[in-house]
Amino acid sequence: MRALIKAAQWTLGPETGEGAPQGIYSAECMTCGAQAQPTDNKCLPVEVWTLKHTGLNPTHRQFRATAETFWCVTPAEGNPYRENDTAQGA
Ligand SMILES: [Zn+2]
Repeated sequence: MRALIKAAQWTLGPETGEGAPQGIYSAECMTCGAQAQPTDNKCLPVEVWTLKHTGLNPTHRQFRATAETFWCVTPAEGNPYRENDTAQGA
């Protein structure tokens, strides 16, 4: 995902800084509220937890699954903040 709004001179993209996950996945049982341990970058452990949860509780079959992603807005070319960031070595 990458979007550029010319008039605003800012660029929106994924946060790629050190330690930033591509995504955090989780799931919550809609029947009892049990929650999967959130995991960085991998949804498979959450899927496995969901299947196991239904296996142990066969009437619990609806889940609220979430995938959090992180964005970063940076100054585009021609934006005065871009020169400021460069001057400060950021
Ligand atoms: Zn449940």
